[in-house]
Amino acid sequence: MASLQHIARAVARPALCAMRGTTASRNYSAAASNGYQFELTDTQKEYQELARKFTAEEIIPKAAELDISGEYPWDILKKAWELGLLNNHIPADIGGMELNVFDGCLIAEEFAYGCTGVKTAIEASGLGQTPVLIAGNKEQQKKYLGRLLEEPLVAAYGVTEPGAGSDVAGIKTRAEKKGDEYIINGQKMWITNGGVANWYFVLARTNPDPKAPAGKAFTGFIVDANTPGVTPGRKEKNMGQRCSDTRGITFEDVRVPKENVLLGEGAGFKIAMATFDKTRPPVAAGAVGLAQRCLDEAMKYSLERKAFGVPIFNHQAVAFMLADMAIGIETSRLAWMRAAWASDKGLPVAYYASIAKALAADVANKCATDAVQIFGGNGFNSDYPVEKLMRDAKIFQIYEGTAQIQRLIVSRNLLAKATGKA
Ligand SMILES: Cc1cc2nc3c(=O)[nH]c(=O)nc-3n(C[C@H](O)[C@H](O)[C@H](O)COP(=O)(O)OP(=O)(O)OC[C@H]3O[C@@H](n4cnc5c(N)ncnc54)[C@H](O)[C@@H]3O)c2cc1C
Repeated sequence: MASLQHIARAVARPALCAMRGTTASRNYSAAASNGYQFELTDTQKEYQELARKFTAEEIIPKAAELDISGEYPWDILKKAWELGLLNNHIPADIGGMELNVFDGCLIAEEFAYGCTGVKTAIEASGLGQTPVLIAGNKEQQKKYLGRLLEEPLVAAYGVTEPGAGSDVAGIKTRAEKKGDEYIINGQKMWITNGGVANWYFVLARTNPDPKAPAGKAFTGFIVDANTPGVTPGRKEKNMGQRCSDTRGITFEDVRVPKENVLLGEGAGFKIAMATFDKTRPPVAAGAVGLAQRCLDEAMKYSLERKAFGVPIFNHQAVAFMLADMAIGIETSRLAWMRAAWASDKGLPVAYYASIAKALAADVANKCATDAVQIFGGNGFNSDYPVEKLMRDAKIFQIYEGTAQIQRLIVSRNLLAKATGKA
């Protein structure tokens, strides 16, 4: 298989290598920059094709086994890394591909089609990297993002705690400055890649005053996973996406050099939130990938399975379920594209990212439920693919902001527009 870098060089980005050290490649995508048009560039088609081929050959054949074993998909990640399919947003001046959000979403949707457990393992590393991408200085980027290019390693994003998920400002992990170091104490929960990451983005409270505004009270740190005092907990047994690695992490007198602070003391909350502008579109794209798989599996089954002497597709009630799946998939795909486009254009994106994430997550769950319905009794059984899809779908309505939190963001944006405060 040709690598992502090879495609970028050979198909339509001949100047990429020469341009390393510039940001000229950032807004390359025609689909992301030329107004309304619905065709991918040749380069994007090649990225999509590479990810699709990789998914067919490396992810789909192993997905059911990984679901049973819960084993972290290191083999798949290593192969994807070799092809340049991981870490693809890392800046060109430190050797990365510097893909935009849109192109990353195209790849994420393909991976998710194969297995959203694998996709989440990959995407969670992107989530961990994004604070460093948007707020890291060159030294931090070279050290921590560069490391991921040198070896197939992953990162993680450590914000949620046992007592606070949606209410990020309620986190209790604290960091205290002592000389040139910060001492971190606290407990994180539900951290994807928690037990396998090489380093974490960690959000901690640095201002002990409970009245301090969130925008000033928290600081974002890069924490090496092997720092003394960092202890990942057991791998959690989740409903779905079982090969992804979700853990609690305890921080006990963890000493972090001040050089590992992102942007500056007090900037952490804004960094943690701004990260979602870039990572919610790919989560939405992942949900679309899962939904598309539901449609394809259910469509195939509906043409093979007969009831009352005809393929079940001939029963309009079944065909309309499939039509509704297609309607949801097409619209939620457009929604992630709109959000990714806004992100790549540097436009306000939270509203679109939340719409895309909420819609795609709901569509994925509806598609998975209906796919199980179309499979009848077989749908309820793990020998058939749709049972896993239904278990895997649920988390899309929970992580990276629940379905309710997305609606909170959308409704706040509506209010701001209506009251002229947007
Ligand atoms: C598998 C998995 C992987 C995860 N990966 C990561 C990760 O890598 N990094 C990380 O930091 N976190 C991660 N999370 C955490 C995830 O982002 C949180 O679980 C999520 O944000 C919800 O927080 P919570 O679980 O504390 O639920 P709560 O915030 O307690 O919410 C409980 C319920 O109340 C609702 N609710 C809360 N507040 C409001 C409100 N204001 N209005 C309306 N409804 C509300 C919620 O929508 C939800 O239905 C992961 C979680 C899981 C399960």
